[in-house]
Amino acid sequence: MDVILFGPPGAGKGTQASAVVDACGALHLSTGDIFRKHLREGTELGLLAKKFMAGGGLVPDDVVVRIVTSRLGDEDAKSGVLFDGFPRTVRQAELLVDWLVANGREVGVAVNLVVADEVVVGRLSGRRTCSSCGATYHVDHNPPAVVDVCDRCGGPVVQRDDDSVETVKKRIEAYHAQTAPVLDWLRERVPVVDVDADRPIADVRNDVVAAVS
Ligand code: ADP
Ligand code: AMP
Repeated sequence: MDVILFGPPGAGKGTQASAVVDACGALHLSTGDIFRKHLREGTELGLLAKKFMAGGGLVPDDVVVRIVTSRLGDEDAKSGVLFDGFPRTVRQAELLVDWLVANGREVGVAVNLVVADEVVVGRLSGRRTCSSCGATYHVDHNPPAVVDVCDRCGGPVVQRDDDSVETVKKRIEAYHAQTAPVLDWLRERVPVVDVDADRPIADVRNDVVAAVS
């Protein structure tokens, strides 16, 4: 089944992704993770994406959609994908749904993580991320067992450049201007389940898993 995990930056999409993967066996596809991997590897795409990511804006639709649809054809993506951080514009949503329909697939459910801007700011400024595997932590709500060491892979846990207060503000603005309208577009076309994401991680997980099961 194809699933969209929707919500503002900091809503908890990455945090909940592994539970969804366990529940429905979908491949986790995070466009932010893909761009960060290219950035680390210094590819042309990474350099292009960096210009937009560093300023808190969105990478152009044609670039994002090309990356996503080329990945969707891979063998491990054929039985279903969990989209995290995508689609982020109505154009991306249209192109995704067109691609799925053309390939005999559909969005089974979109799970919308609902959380207020003030909460998101606190989460993003305290977020720490494993620079090897991308696992996310929070200095207060969800710290790794050993300071700055990833529980999952032992890699270094650091603060993302775009989690600075200034860039977080711009990312939230971009969410309201360009991404929030995607939710209305989705509501008219696919099942959407709203989940109150301003609760402990385990409680949110229960509702997210129920929505995709
Ligand atoms: P997103 O992928 O939506 O941008 P993340 O999953 O990276 O968000 O979560 C952002 C930050 O908030 C991380 O530091 C994470 O540990 C923390 N977090 C996620 N869910 C919750 C929650 N329910 N309560 C408190 N903190 C949370
Ligand atoms: P994320 O890890 O989802 O918070 O994404 C980090 C950054 O990558 C965003 O602030 C954007 O600059 C870029 N990005 C990720 N996904 C997309 C997308 N679907 N469309 C445009 N830009 C994206």
